Amino acid sequence: MFDLWQRLTGIFLLIVVTAVLWVAVDAVTALLLFSFILLGITIHHTYCLASLDRWFQRFDHTSIDPSTISTIPSSFGPWGDVFIRLTRFIRRYYRSRQTLSKALERLQRATSAMPEGIIILDEANRIEWCNPSAEQHLSLDLKLDVGQHVTHLVRQVQFVTYLTAGDYSKPLVIKQSRYEEMILSLQLVPYGDKEKLLISRDITRFEKMEIMRRDFIANVSHELRTPLTIIGGFLETLLDEEIKDSEMEKRALTLMADQAKRMQRLVEDLLTLSRLENAQNILHEEDIDIAELLHSLFQEAQSLSAEHHHITLNILSDAHLLGSVDELRSALGNLVSNAVRYTPEGGEISLNWTEEQDQGLFYVQDSGIGIGPEHILRLTERFYRVDRSRSRETGGTGLGLAIVKHVSGRHQARMEIVSEIEKGSIFKIWFPAKRLVKNKAGSTAHDISSIPSNKTIPPIP
Ligand code: ADP
Repeated sequence: MFDLWQRLTGIFLLIVVTAVLWVAVDAVTALLLFSFILLGITIHHTYCLASLDRWFQRFDHTSIDPSTISTIPSSFGPWGDVFIRLTRFIRRYYRSRQTLSKALERLQRATSAMPEGIIILDEANRIEWCNPSAEQHLSLDLKLDVGQHVTHLVRQVQFVTYLTAGDYSKPLVIKQSRYEEMILSLQLVPYGDKEKLLISRDITRFEKMEIMRRDFIANVSHELRTPLTIIGGFLETLLDEEIKDSEMEKRALTLMADQAKRMQRLVEDLLTLSRLENAQNILHEEDIDIAELLHSLFQEAQSLSAEHHHITLNILSDAHLLGSVDELRSALGNLVSNAVRYTPEGGEISLNWTEEQDQGLFYVQDSGIGIGPEHILRLTERFYRVDRSRSRETGGTGLGLAIVKHVSGRHQARMEIVSEIEKGSIFKIWFPAKRLVKNKAGSTAHDISSIPSNKTIPPIP
């Protein structure tokens, strides 16, 4: 604190000394000394004031750092106290600025990491700030677009209407104008003094899932409608007492039985899929003798083919596999039955178990009708068929490959499809090395065998 009394004592002392000199010596000497001391004090004050003024002119409050403190002038007496106080004030100001900018930096880092886009709009809906997710969602560039009216940059009519309507209780769903495939949910949240937060979320995945769910329900209903119509129609006919035609009855019953079986298969496959999809349903792992499993699938393939195809089984590895035998039987069985169903009479089919690049490889190769490249990526979608009528005629449910994909995923295995129209297909499942059990003590090692012949089908180019 400025010591007023100390300063006043100094002046009082000066007056006393002058008075004593006046009395003791003479008035001229006393006044001369008094004036001389006053002049010295005035020069000192003027000099310090000028130094402070110069310092203020150079002072930039936006770039304060420790070096700013060293530029503050120093002095003695009352000015010394003022400069020390100024130094303390600048130091405190610098520290609080540091704390604030660190907090701001942390806040910016947190908002930058958010998957939601955040835009701060002022009273007139001009952009004040936005995070990187908002830049990506709405194709903004903060450096260029700050201060721009948001409707100049997000031009969709629905958004302009939403903004002007003033009812922000529900979010607005729009398609991103630049990337058509991105679907965004936009929600305005008013806050503070007529300012608004615009929050954007990328909901493309949820929307796609919703579309898939709708398609799935439509497909299931469609699949079940035909069998139900046939069964219902024939039941009505059979109930009609006028008709006593036993041939007709036989035909109707056969058709009804066929369609009932198809519905059963559909329901079974749907249940299998929902079991596989259920995250709670953990994989029951056991040591599977793949050779044994393939022998039984080979026999099933032969009975399904009814000697219309030439089928071979090639076991080129005696490694067992860690996994669920029921799930793998269902997945591999689907691939084998597809090969039989989509290969015309006289065609070649092979079931193979081998090891390549340290991985277990199961593959089914056929010389069947093949699949065009445009279909390959969609084959594992539920109810996706290249040829709908052929699938139905041969008793397909359209869910087989979806089951194979899920089972592979649960075993960390990778599915690969190579196919060419009119030449045939290869469906491969690559099992990771960690799932292979080699030469395990006590396990029955099977002869590396080939049934009925080891004839190789020429590879699909
Ligand atoms: P589906 O019960 O109709 O066979 P899948 O999911 O098993 O259903 O197969 C999907 C589609 O993939 C089939 O409808 C068929 O068009 C095609 N497909 C599957 N396997 C083969 C194959 N080995 N050869 C040719 N096309 C195949």
